[in-house]
Amino acid sequence: MTDETPTAPEIEFRSDMTVELVRSSAHDSDVLFAARVSTMGEQTLESAQAPESDGAPKGAGLINYLMRDRHGSPFEHNSMTFYVQAPIFVFREFMRHRMASYNEESGRYRELNPVFYVPAENRNLVQVGKPGAYDFLPGSPEQYELVSEATRASSTLAFDAYQKMLEAGVAREVARIVLPLNIYSSMYVTVNARSLMNFLSLRTKREGTHFPSFPQREIEMCAEKMEDIWAGLMPLTYSAFEKNGRVAP
Ligand SMILES: Cc1cc2nc3c(=O)[nH]c(=O)nc-3n(C[C@H](O)[C@H](O)[C@H](O)COP(=O)(O)OP(=O)(O)OC[C@H]3O[C@@H](n4cnc5c(N)ncnc54)[C@H](O)[C@@H]3O)c2cc1C
Repeated sequence: MTDETPTAPEIEFRSDMTVELVRSSAHDSDVLFAARVSTMGEQTLESAQAPESDGAPKGAGLINYLMRDRHGSPFEHNSMTFYVQAPIFVFREFMRHRMASYNEESGRYRELNPVFYVPAENRNLVQVGKPGAYDFLPGSPEQYELVSEATRASSTLAFDAYQKMLEAGVAREVARIVLPLNIYSSMYVTVNARSLMNFLSLRTKREGTHFPSFPQREIEMCAEKMEDIWAGLMPLTYSAFEKNGRVAP
């Protein structure tokens, strides 16, 4: 007798986030040419089309002024598309940011991969403080063990139930209802620098910002990667953002 039972896909547990820059058109000079139309009219077109002579656009002072006085629209004439893999509970927070465009993989049109998030050992586990300004402290070894084991066990149980339903001919859109929020999904997200600054100001926790925010660590892990990429693309804009208290203009 041959065993024709399909082998269940191997469950993978991850503690990290994927953020890759897929494409971009985002330079400090985009901010400058947009701002200069205000005083130069059509002459600004030449500076928009001319390559930077030494590779580094001048205009740090103008960018800083725009940031400080919250003249936000010159920061919109650019675009960055990121590929993100993160758990669904992170995507749910991401998509509250309406000034971005999203396309996500479908749980109706494809079978979801058994990839689940489990917190790393250095992820703080204990919440102290008051609503809106919680601090998170390391858990005990016992707490970490519990989180790790319970997350792995419930993810495995849920994915088994999903597989059983699919094998019985149940539609993907029905079978997926048992899958937990820590399953990974993938999406493209496109932003401009202004919408990204709003996102970063809310989804990173930094000392000394004008408006401190206390985001969930897992979306902050994505935000940090996006921030690093953006800082490389638009260094003058990034430095003005930092210098002015990380307030979105
Ligand atoms: C730490 C933290 C905790 C949170 N907790 C919760 C929670 O418990 N429950 C919950 O529901 N959400 C929660 N949120 C989500 C939060 O309320 C915002 O929806 C999210 O941060 C997106 O911010 P945004 O609206 O500024 O971004 P975007 O949607 O990208 O908007 C950018 C800017 O555009 C303008 N704008 C966009 N849409 C409108 C509109 N319809 N009308 C007027 N102006 C508009 C605003 O100026 C806005 O700041 C939380 C967010 C953070 C950072």
